[in-house]
Amino acid sequence: MNAVLLPSPQPLIRELPDELISQIAAGEVVERPASVVRELLDNALDAGALLVTLRLVAGGVRSMVVEDDGVGIAREQLAMALKRHATSKIACLQDLESVGTMGFRGEALAAINSVAACAIVSRVSTLNKSQNLPENSAWMLDGQSGEISPAARAQGTTVEVKELFFATPARRKFLKTDATEQAHCLEAVRRHALVRPDVGFAVWADGKLLEQWRAGSAKNSPDGRMAQRISDVLGEEFIAHALAVDYTSGSGIRVQGFAGIPDAARSRADQQFAYVNGRFVRDKVIGHAARSAYEDVLHGGRQPVYVLFVSIDPTRVDVNVHPTKIEVRFRDGREVHQAVRHALDNALALPRAGQVGVAGNPKNGQFLEENTTPSRMEYAQTAINYGADREPDVVGNRVSDIGVLWNAPPANPSAFTSTPPTDRAPEAVSSSTAPPSAWPLGRAIAQLQGIYILAENTQGLVIIDMHAAHERIVYERLKSQIDTQTITSQSLLIPATFAATPTEVACAEAHMDTLRHLGLEITAFSPKTLAVRAVPTTLAAGDAVELARSVLAELSQHDASTVIARAQHEILSTMACHGAVRANRSLTVHEMNALLRQMETTERSDQCNHGRPTWRQISVKELDNLFMRGR
Ligand code: ADP
Ligand code: MG
Repeated sequence: MNAVLLPSPQPLIRELPDELISQIAAGEVVERPASVVRELLDNALDAGALLVTLRLVAGGVRSMVVEDDGVGIAREQLAMALKRHATSKIACLQDLESVGTMGFRGEALAAINSVAACAIVSRVSTLNKSQNLPENSAWMLDGQSGEISPAARAQGTTVEVKELFFATPARRKFLKTDATEQAHCLEAVRRHALVRPDVGFAVWADGKLLEQWRAGSAKNSPDGRMAQRISDVLGEEFIAHALAVDYTSGSGIRVQGFAGIPDAARSRADQQFAYVNGRFVRDKVIGHAARSAYEDVLHGGRQPVYVLFVSIDPTRVDVNVHPTKIEVRFRDGREVHQAVRHALDNALALPRAGQVGVAGNPKNGQFLEENTTPSRMEYAQTAINYGADREPDVVGNRVSDIGVLWNAPPANPSAFTSTPPTDRAPEAVSSSTAPPSAWPLGRAIAQLQGIYILAENTQGLVIIDMHAAHERIVYERLKSQIDTQTITSQSLLIPATFAATPTEVACAEAHMDTLRHLGLEITAFSPKTLAVRAVPTTLAAGDAVELARSVLAELSQHDASTVIARAQHEILSTMACHGAVRANRSLTVHEMNALLRQMETTERSDQCNHGRPTWRQISVKELDNLFMRGR
């Protein structure tokens, strides 16, 4: 975290030179009450405030007041504060390149004053004699008339913003209900509060205290204060199910914060907070790195939760790319991606590329890295426990195990390209050229609890998680199709219609081509109904509506096509999860054998898309040991 404390007194507010103005990302800053709140909080924090109070009336639409105890604005500077492109925070291009404050454009107050009735009451430190200030007095500036009059308050600044968009009814119409606007305002405060545990925040709504987060005691360690604030703002649950992150990359990028365990994932991406040098950002690089770190442990569509603070040399990041500064541009996105990915991998102890065999126990709220290879007996125990309580507690197929097994000759590769195993004709199984004794995963003998397939091979018993295995097969098939061309799709005789949200309808229309590419045809049937007209052939047996919904949900998170290309594998993984056979579906021996043969010819089929193993081997020797045979 980069706590920004300005020296006191504040530098003078000055108009920026024209050539600097032209360098500044211009655009709409004020869109709704929450945008005003964000700007006013930025200003309070830049002024070194230790206590910030927000008061909202009618969701902020009627009025928003932000009070702080920062350095204040001197009387003769008040008018300047409301001027466009006037700021005390930067003076030249060089300052812009290494800016450490939240604000720097000198635009916010001017923009706010142009769409609402603004008033500023401020008082600078009475200890500050150097500027020859009238002592013991606060001053009020009326933003509309420009009049300055004496007022009363302690050191600090109060900015009042009334009747947002009063002169532009068209824009006012775009505002949502007061409750929604209030929720957005609160979210803006949360974003600030999470990164500044050293500052106290209070939020009042219509005269009632809504939230209050006290400044962390200086007696606590910075980490302790961070954890306390996160717990205050996001709930004890968040911290109870999160792992501490603290990692510094070789390139000097530090990533701190907390990452939720996979079990804490949510259906919406509403608890993903990323900061760069103390500024809340929505960043594709960080978002992607986080998603990829969680990719192997989260079920399709589940959203990880995290609060991550990235600290990077300010000259390596451009904060001047977006009018609201919510997006940044890294000079080298790759180094940031790697830093975030490694930070999360370390925290979650997930296997990195080329490394297999990590045990995780989400139930204990902690992941343990297995550094020692367990004995065969331990494996057997593991496998049996795994089957017995149906919890994928401990995972870990070793490279060596897979190697041994995979040395067997592959079965007929053509078995891979046809329809899913559940639809396969029994002949397809026996058409395999290899004799049953050479099948690496053996001959299916039974199904257990509607979840596992039991098979016999030359070494002994093989236990297969049928959903996980099938999911991997479907995923790999979709992936190989999309890598070569478009996923082959199958039209539905009767389109599957469903009541859709406006977001879903908009998303289906905006991403028509991408959906086609993914083998899906989804069109608007009416303004509130979508119709699924075609689905990938591989997934034809599944629930078309469920599939459409989850793909639309994924797509709506990624707007640009480049992002979709990068997120493609996640989308395919979600699709595969829907297309795979569910637990509790009983399979015939032929179907089970078909699934095993497909696994044998599918790359990476030893783990499902979420990193859990798809099968375990228990050798006859292990079975003998279990029964103390031959001792
Ligand atoms: P910026 O923050 O980009 O400089 P603003 O329009 O938000 O632009 O604010 C203009 C100037 O007004 C700031 O540079 C700062 O000097 C002063 N100012 C605004 N809010 C406060 C505050 N709460 N306390 C002290 N000074 C403030
Ligand atoms: Mg500002």
